[in-house]
Amino acid sequence: MASPQELRFDGQTVVVTGAGGGLGKQYALFYGSRGANVVVNDLGGSFKGEGKSTKAADVVVEEIRAKGGKAVGNYDSVENGEAIIETAIKNFGRVDVLINNAGILRDISFKNMKDQDWDLIMAVHVRGAYKCARAAWPYFRRQKYGRVISTASAAGLFGNFGQCNYSAAKLALVGFTETLAKEGVKYNILCNTIAPIAASRMTETIMPPDVLQVLKPEWVVPLVAVLTHKSNTETGSLYEVGGGHIAKLRWERSKGALYKADSSLTPGSIPTKWNEVNDFSQPEYPSGPANFMELLEAAQQLPPNDP
Ligand code: NAD
Repeated sequence: MASPQELRFDGQTVVVTGAGGGLGKQYALFYGSRGANVVVNDLGGSFKGEGKSTKAADVVVEEIRAKGGKAVGNYDSVENGEAIIETAIKNFGRVDVLINNAGILRDISFKNMKDQDWDLIMAVHVRGAYKCARAAWPYFRRQKYGRVISTASAAGLFGNFGQCNYSAAKLALVGFTETLAKEGVKYNILCNTIAPIAASRMTETIMPPDVLQVLKPEWVVPLVAVLTHKSNTETGSLYEVGGGHIAKLRWERSKGALYKADSSLTPGSIPTKWNEVNDFSQPEYPSGPANFMELLEAAQQLPPNDP
């Protein structure tokens, strides 16, 4: 793996959604300083998804240009992914990297959640990431090159009070990315997910200043740079990143119990092996549905797979 200090993106076009502030701004400034053409997308609304403005994106574009970089603004919502990718194609003739970063919060307890809180979160995080990736995909396939980062959250991986809409959307992006990784790999389209933690307007009201101080969004950038560089080989992976800590996450399955798949498998039979079902002392790390079918096959619950 090349060191981030050496990573360059000359001639490539990087689309960063939600690049008007927080993490997205830091990504955009980084790529702008490493030779990339940057599409700085931002709707410019509040962190709850209200309103819009061109200012957030324009300020970042100006900063990149002032330092000698190449950037153009786009003010569409990520739900309009075609227009964002079109901005890349019209201005720079190509798209190489997509950072699905735009996001909002509509925190509220499940008891008080309104359909609008649910729908807006799904629209921005899930539909937005889908629309941007869908619009970029034909270009990636044709040029046999693409790098995609999608942004999950610890709230999605572990749940968090008042965030069931956000948690659902963020974990959806993990599954989304795992499938894109499987479909993209033969075209050299590598797709990974990050669950970042960083000081931004999203977190500034819920964390104390001394903690925010060590969670600079800049500390998330190096991992994203590495995962989106041409030298990267990692795909379908999920990383937690923030404050200088980076860790990979994966699914763990207990060895489990095998019940006979016949009429003896009744609710009453479940407790007989319940401890085995919940025992993680012999874990497995599945990477796809096929792993489960192989397991049943090995246990002779399924006919052997004909080669
Ligand atoms: P932020 O609010 O500073 O940045 C999000 C940006 O997205 C804003 O500039 C906003 O205007 C833009 N945006 C919102 N809706 C948009 C839309 N429909 N179309 C285009 N742009 C839109 O917050 P941040 O902390 O930098 O968050 C960046 C991403 O990281 C988000 O996806 C967030 O959910 C995720 N995240 C952040 C943290 C954290 O600790 N900051 C933790 C977990 C996940």
